[in-house]
Amino acid sequence: MSTFQAPKGTYDLTPPRSAMFLAVREAISAPLRDSGYGYIETPGFENVELFARGVGESTDIVTKEMYTFTTKGGDQLALRPEGTASVLRAALEANLHKAGNLPVKLWYSGSYYRYERPQAGRYRHFSQVGAEAIGTEDPALDAELIILADQAYRSLGLRQFRILLNSLGDKECRPVYREALQTFLRDLDLDEETRRRIEINPLRVLDDKRADVQKQLTDAPKLRDYLCDACKAYHEEVRALLTAAGVAFEDDEKLVRGLDYYTRTTFEFVHDGLGSQSAVGGGGRYDGLSEMIGGPELPSVGWALGVDRTVLALEAEGVELDLPATTSVYAVPLGEEARRVLFGVVTELRRAGIAADFAFGGRGLKGAMKSANRSGARYTLVAGERDLAEGVVQLKDMESGEQSAVPLAEAAAELAKRLG
Ligand code: AMP
Repeated sequence: MSTFQAPKGTYDLTPPRSAMFLAVREAISAPLRDSGYGYIETPGFENVELFARGVGESTDIVTKEMYTFTTKGGDQLALRPEGTASVLRAALEANLHKAGNLPVKLWYSGSYYRYERPQAGRYRHFSQVGAEAIGTEDPALDAELIILADQAYRSLGLRQFRILLNSLGDKECRPVYREALQTFLRDLDLDEETRRRIEINPLRVLDDKRADVQKQLTDAPKLRDYLCDACKAYHEEVRALLTAAGVAFEDDEKLVRGLDYYTRTTFEFVHDGLGSQSAVGGGGRYDGLSEMIGGPELPSVGWALGVDRTVLALEAEGVELDLPATTSVYAVPLGEEARRVLFGVVTELRRAGIAADFAFGGRGLKGAMKSANRSGARYTLVAGERDLAEGVVQLKDMESGEQSAVPLAEAAAELAKRLG
């Protein structure tokens, strides 16, 4: 292993590609910020208990993928594998739900950790932007979140994604279905681990990717046939609102998702250019989660979109993000005196809000101009001893190649004018 290699299953974001990650986070959060969602930040780790109870003891995330550790003080902690449980815990701790303003709408952005088998699109450290709307049962809220995610992806220029939609029922009808499913599954020819799964989390068996398992599931009881009237009506309303908003979706009865806390609405955004790790984001309603972690009844809904996979999806579609050059003006001093003078001009430009950079390290004209080019700057300022003696700097338009002498004292104002 090389000394400089990032840990297995992780990678660094470095320029220029890192700019895409910033742009994706910005694009995903913008519709949320415009729709009443407030920013929340929680610690990178929590008590293990929170995820064990919240995400679910029977999920892969908790049983296999969590980074857990004991602190020197004896606390059992886990690096957060997902955001929802933490955000709900934080909202409860801060009593946000008691401020008389439901739903509590929150958005977040951060790093998440899962000890998974690394492959393209699946990492041990990844990044999500998420949204949670806590404390209200209203199909319009489920629809709002799906519409905002759709809007975010479209604003980035993504087109080859699909929205899969399902309802998992509630605490009335889901247990009845669960039992019917268990009875059906127990008669199938399945391996030991899958048989254990039937007892703790039978809905996950429907999610099994293996062809020999899928073949046996054709006649499995369908959740749709077990939904109670209230769940059916709720789901129909979500569907109608999405349709009215012009957001296309596909009904997917097999969509159960890997976390235990979902009830009623569940959805996933999948991208067709990503191979096996095709889910770019997902979420759903989690009406029982608050009680599972010891809080009051707070029906809620949320989603998390993966930043890493969204970037991969953009690359797969060949979408070029319209990333503005970060530097507008690049200053190239020739000699000691010019260094002092141009460094002053750069400082003045920056204070005036103009993005400016400088050829550091006393480099020659050729190398410095190469850096100016690479910076993407619209203008360069060049000055040598003779220019300074005349009280001017050379201002070069990097697009047209035109160059003209500008009085030193007017350089900053002239650039501000030209850059609008
Ligand atoms: P989940 O919490 O599993 O529903 O994940 C939500 C989104 O986070 C997924 O759709 C992915 O885009 C992203 N994600 C989850 N796990 C990983 C991972 N191991 N590596 C990269 N992205 C991930």
